[in-house]
Amino acid sequence: MPSGEGSRARFRGQPLALEWVADGWHLRVVQPYRALKTYRCPGCDQEIFPRTLHVVVWPEGSPEQRRHWHRPCWERHFAKLGQARVRRRRRRDG
Ligand SMILES: [Zn+2]
Repeated sequence: MPSGEGSRARFRGQPLALEWVADGWHLRVVQPYRALKTYRCPGCDQEIFPRTLHVVVWPEGSPEQRRHWHRPCWERHFAKLGQARVRRRRRRDG
């Protein structure tokens, strides 16, 4: 039963969420037409050029700490955070 395929297809057919919270991080997608300034991505230390789709991320409840990231850079960083958390949890349990 390819349930993963089905849910991906459904997701594609619906409007994409532009703002959500994951693991204590608040994310907002900035669409190209709304991205009018150049930002520095903390993930790769390169510029995010205007008219580039990217994400704004901040710790939930601390919007003054928001940063602009390339979307793949944030996803890589977020995956690393998750791995670190799993490693810590395993060490505590073991
Ligand atoms: Zn980047």
